[in-house]
Amino acid sequence: ETMIEFDDVTKIYSDQTVAVEEISFAVERGTTTVFVGPSGCGKTTTMTLVNRMQDPTEGTVYYDGTDVQELDKVDLRRDIGYVIQEIGLFDHMSVGENIATVPELKGWDRSRIDDRVDELLELMDLPPAQYRDQYPTELSGGQQQRVGVARALAADPDVILMDEPFGALDPITREELQNEFLEIQDRIDTTILFVTHDINEALKMGDKIAIFDVGELVQYGTPQEILHDP
Ligand code: ADP
Ligand code: ADP
Repeated sequence: ETMIEFDDVTKIYSDQTVAVEEISFAVERGTTTVFVGPSGCGKTTTMTLVNRMQDPTEGTVYYDGTDVQELDKVDLRRDIGYVIQEIGLFDHMSVGENIATVPELKGWDRSRIDDRVDELLELMDLPPAQYRDQYPTELSGGQQQRVGVARALAADPDVILMDEPFGALDPITREELQNEFLEIQDRIDTTILFVTHDINEALKMGDKIAIFDVGELVQYGTPQEILHDP
C-alpha cells in the first residue's frame, strides 16, 4: 500500500534555482526510504514537499492517496513527525514536556500523555525516572537527539521525516543511534523518510534508497539493487 507518492514533481525556487526536476517515486507504508546524495542535490527540498513546508512548482505529491494541496498545512505538520540535525528541543522545557508537545496540541488526556512519554523514553534507552524531568542542556548530544526522535514519534504519526538526524553527532554516538533506530523501526509501523549524505548510513537504514544527483532522482531501489547495479 502506497503511503507517499511523487508524480513528476518539480520544485523551482523564486530565484530560478531548479532544486528537483520531474521526480517520481512511491513509498510503501511502514518502510524507510533514504534520500542520499551530495549537498545541494535536492534531498531536503523533496522532504519539505511532503508536509507542505513548501509546495511543488509542477507535479503532484500524494499523502495516503490524497493530493497534499488539498490537505491543511497545520494538520499535516501536526500529523507528520519531523527530526532535524539541529535538534530543536525547547531548552526551557523538560525532556518530558518536550516529548509531550504534539500530544498536548492534539488534546490527549494527561494520563495517556504521561504513559506515552515514559514508553518513548524506555524505547529510546533513557530511563524515565532519571530523564523525564531533566532539561535538554543537561544531556549529551546523543541523548538530546534521542529525545528529538521520541518527540517526533510521540503522537503516533503515520509518517516521520528525518533530515540528517544523526549528522551532528560524533561517529561512535552516530553508530549507536543508527543501531537503536534500526531496532525501533522493527517495532513501529511508521513510514520514514530519511535524508543523509552518507551512503553507508543509507544502505544500513533504508528499505529503499533514493539516490539524488543535482535535482534528479538517478536511482531508486533496495540496498541490494543499488549495490548490484551501482
Ligand atoms: P540537499 O538537501 O540535497 O542539500 P536542498 O534541497 O537543500 O539540497 O537544495 C537543493 C538546491 O536548491 C540547492 O541548489 C540549494 O541551494 C537550493 N535551495 C534550497 N533552498 C532554497 C531556497 N529557499 N531558495 C533558493 N534556493 C534554494
Ligand atoms: P555522549 O558520550 O553520549 O556524548 P557525554 O560524554 O556528553 O555523552 O556524557 C556522558 C554522560 O554524562 C551522559 O550519560 C550524560 O547524561 C552525562 N552528562 C553530560 N553532560 C551533562 C551535563 N551538562 N549535566 C549532567 N549530566 C551530563
